[in-house]
Amino acid sequence: MDTQHPAILVVGGSLAGLTFALASASRGVPVRVVERAERRTLGGDNLNVDLAAIARTVICDPRTGAKLPVVRAFRDRHLTTWPALYGWLRDRAGTMPGITLDENRAVASVRAEGDRAIVAFEDGMEASANAVIGADGYHSIVRRAVAPEQPLASYAGYLVWRGLVDESALSVPVAWPTDGGLWITLQQGYRLVAAVLPGRDGSREIGQRQVTFAWFDGRRDDLLRRTGCLDAGGHVIGTLTAAAISAEVREELSALVPRLWPEPWAEAVALGVRTPGAMRGAPIAEYRPVRLVAGPLAIIGDAAHGVSPMTGSGYATAVDDAFVLATTLAQRDTAEPLKRYERARLPYTRGLVDHSRRLSAEFNHYVAGWFGR
Ligand SMILES: Cc1cc2nc3c(=O)[nH]c(=O)nc-3n(C[C@H](O)[C@H](O)[C@H](O)COP(=O)(O)OP(=O)(O)OC[C@H]3O[C@@H](n4cnc5c(N)ncnc54)[C@H](O)[C@@H]3O)c2cc1C
Repeated sequence: MDTQHPAILVVGGSLAGLTFALASASRGVPVRVVERAERRTLGGDNLNVDLAAIARTVICDPRTGAKLPVVRAFRDRHLTTWPALYGWLRDRAGTMPGITLDENRAVASVRAEGDRAIVAFEDGMEASANAVIGADGYHSIVRRAVAPEQPLASYAGYLVWRGLVDESALSVPVAWPTDGGLWITLQQGYRLVAAVLPGRDGSREIGQRQVTFAWFDGRRDDLLRRTGCLDAGGHVIGTLTAAAISAEVREELSALVPRLWPEPWAEAVALGVRTPGAMRGAPIAEYRPVRLVAGPLAIIGDAAHGVSPMTGSGYATAVDDAFVLATTLAQRDTAEPLKRYERARLPYTRGLVDHSRRLSAEFNHYVAGWFGR
């Protein structure tokens, strides 16, 4: 370990944690990333990304060399799949000097002792670090130590059924909608966002791509409570894994598909609903941070700010968090780098969550208009 730099431990090795690790190590600040899962293959569907911002942050350009598979969306934005982006980041993090990946290991708790951060692992071991960065998602453990008075994210009032299906399984290929961008519609109290994305092998060939959908559903509060995804206080504490979606719920959704969605999306959605493992249910969590830092602890990504996918900004904001935090940590003469990170990011992230809440309120109003909720 380079002793001139603080020893930094990152909790969570998904999109935000890996982006920060690459940003930090490529600026000469080594990090250790602790991730409870093994190399992940699932996590979501489509993401719109700013390739220039990623390149600037991780100092490696996803548009050159081993490219990130994308399709053009709007203005300077592109669409990619979650597995493709995760794989691109993980491949680079796995070979970059200065990054130690400690996967299949869970953190049980984090605390500050003076200016040291102490991490307790679920296997009973402890580690001490100069700084711990929480990139551990909407139900963050690090956040509990950073903001103990407000540790949990609130339920935005709706869930998103998210699926990714192979185009080759459809009876007809799907035309590129509006230059490959997102197709968005509201129908009878529900909202659908769909898109055609590169195939698993990065192919853009018609018939070899993937179709993604995000079906916004504001009528699942009871299901989420029954399945333990929401607590009594209305906080999101879990998501509906593919295995947790019952046959009864699948049947109900299948019956709704032809009533709600037009072809060619209807076939893709119906396939995603029917195929085991192809769809998950994400209750949307919103979190407006009171702070981002407490002593040697900091939070980034969804751990720091929970926003609706309607903002299209969750990962984009994590990229900006990573850029600011990594560049601040790399300036060796900077006093209190974590506090500087907080000053730079807190006002923006709070504003973004306010925007997210307005979008959620509009959608909930629309749902109530249909169903009288
Ligand atoms: C339908 C949908 C569409 C979206 N579209 C967009 C979009 O177009 N553009 C955009 O920018 N964003 C979008 N987002 C948001 C984006 O997906 C998230 O902001 C982003 O994936 C969050 O990444 P993260 O790394 O912060 O959190 P997560 O992906 O939740 O990762 C947290 C990681 O921490 C690990 N972890 C948790 N606890 C522990 C522990 N105790 N010990 C060790 N490891 C732990 C987990 O295993 C996980 O790997 C969308 C989200 C949804 C739901």
